[in-house]
Amino acid sequence: MRILITASEAIPFAKTGGLADVATALAQELNVEGHDVTLVIPHYPQLLPPGARQRFQITSIGDEFSVPVGPRKSTGSFLQAKIPNSNVQVILVDQPDYFDRPSPYVYENIPYEDNCERFVFFSRAVVTAIKQFGPFDIVHANDWQTGLLPALIDIEARKQNPEIRRTGTVFTIHNLAFQGRFWHWDMVLTGLDWKYFNWKQMEFFGDLNLLKTGIVFADMVTTVSPTYAREIQTPDYGWGLDPALSGRGNSLVGILNGVDTEIWHPEKDRFIKVNYSVETVDVNKAICKADLQEQVGLPKNPDAPVVAMISRMSEQKGFDLLKKAGDRLLNNDAQFIFLGTGEHVYEEFVKELSQTYPNRVASLVKFDEELAHKIEAGSDLFLMPSEFEPCGLNQMYSMLYGTVPVVHAVGGLADSVVPVTPETLDEKTATGFSFDRYSTEGFLKAFETALKMFRDKPVWSQIRDTGMQQDLSWARSARNYLEVYRKAIDKHAGK
Ligand code: ADP
Repeated sequence: MRILITASEAIPFAKTGGLADVATALAQELNVEGHDVTLVIPHYPQLLPPGARQRFQITSIGDEFSVPVGPRKSTGSFLQAKIPNSNVQVILVDQPDYFDRPSPYVYENIPYEDNCERFVFFSRAVVTAIKQFGPFDIVHANDWQTGLLPALIDIEARKQNPEIRRTGTVFTIHNLAFQGRFWHWDMVLTGLDWKYFNWKQMEFFGDLNLLKTGIVFADMVTTVSPTYAREIQTPDYGWGLDPALSGRGNSLVGILNGVDTEIWHPEKDRFIKVNYSVETVDVNKAICKADLQEQVGLPKNPDAPVVAMISRMSEQKGFDLLKKAGDRLLNNDAQFIFLGTGEHVYEEFVKELSQTYPNRVASLVKFDEELAHKIEAGSDLFLMPSEFEPCGLNQMYSMLYGTVPVVHAVGGLADSVVPVTPETLDEKTATGFSFDRYSTEGFLKAFETALKMFRDKPVWSQIRDTGMQQDLSWARSARNYLEVYRKAIDKHAGK
């Protein structure tokens, strides 16, 4: 199959969250399984890691192109790049006015004013790429930044270009909370007729909604876990889009993300002090723990449970629960490590905790990929009390690293963590701790149960080792995506 995957970020070129991991990992896995995969993302020169130009062999390809963005024409060009040890073809859309910026979507937590224009341009650039580098059997768009693309293909490109007539489109929602909602006049930027600006298609409470556009126009819609796929069809988790989502019926499918085990696996991880497997975890994880404690400035105490969080600091990720728990979090002998950036109040909250308890709490308010790996390897418990969680990656990384997760049982957290109960302990299937009702009390109870069990070494080893042995590979997810791709293609059979 010839597959084009497009997203607004992908490792190792640019990353603000899980989308970047997923876009690349899925592309690589499909490629390993014999498919011809092209990944298209914007070119953010300021976000490239040092030496990227040589390491990723970034060179220009093709001529300049220009596409309409509202009444104006915007010019861009394509660069091609290689991901080391991979045969995925990467196309970077180069347009310095839009993408040569310090971060992809926001500056000092405020979205760029021209975000709609930037990603309308990007979606139109992807259509140009499809014409130039295609034909493709599948175009797979992700999140609101590429939500316009299925509409452009459906409304314009299929009619203009016979080669695209049978191309299937798939749209994946990684987080329904981010919708790409803009005032109605931005409809002009899309270049599509106003007739599509209606409540069944692109309009949402008087605004233009690019996520909704993707949901409505794609042949198939997926989201990143089966539980989240069900949740988002209800008013509680639907952010107003539950009718649009349930309207898609069987064309909406939940597929749990996998883990890129070339990057996130304790046997291969190149950032951690020593590698380890389930056979060597007892000795080697203790070495990683001591290394981590030293690195973040906590006492090198092998007996204190190290409890970690690596996360955007936002309400979604449960920081309001943590803040309400306050000092009660520290009613034990654990050490805490917080790595993340986000809302000011939560950044201040963790900084204050570490000032009050300098020997117990380390707060690292920054984005640090290498440290994230060291934390996964050196910690004993991982907290993920998210209010909602489409899939979540860190609970899966944690399990593989023998770092037992404590999670709110929603979305992908419910689908990936088997909570400790007398039955799951008997069956040896338990991999973590969870709480059902989103409340500080519920969270603290689960956390305290986990800390108590940490002291029971045989039971703890069983939970930890069961997590380490989970099959969280992308191979399983990629098979499910291929099935969805076939359904999308089937919708155009005979055309
Ligand atoms: P999100 O909703 O933010 O996408 P996920 O759990 O799906 O949440 O993915 C988050 C990804 O970003 C994980 O790979 C996590 O390790 C990483 N991450 C988040 N914050 C940081 C940070 N401050 N430093 C390093 N990595 C981070």
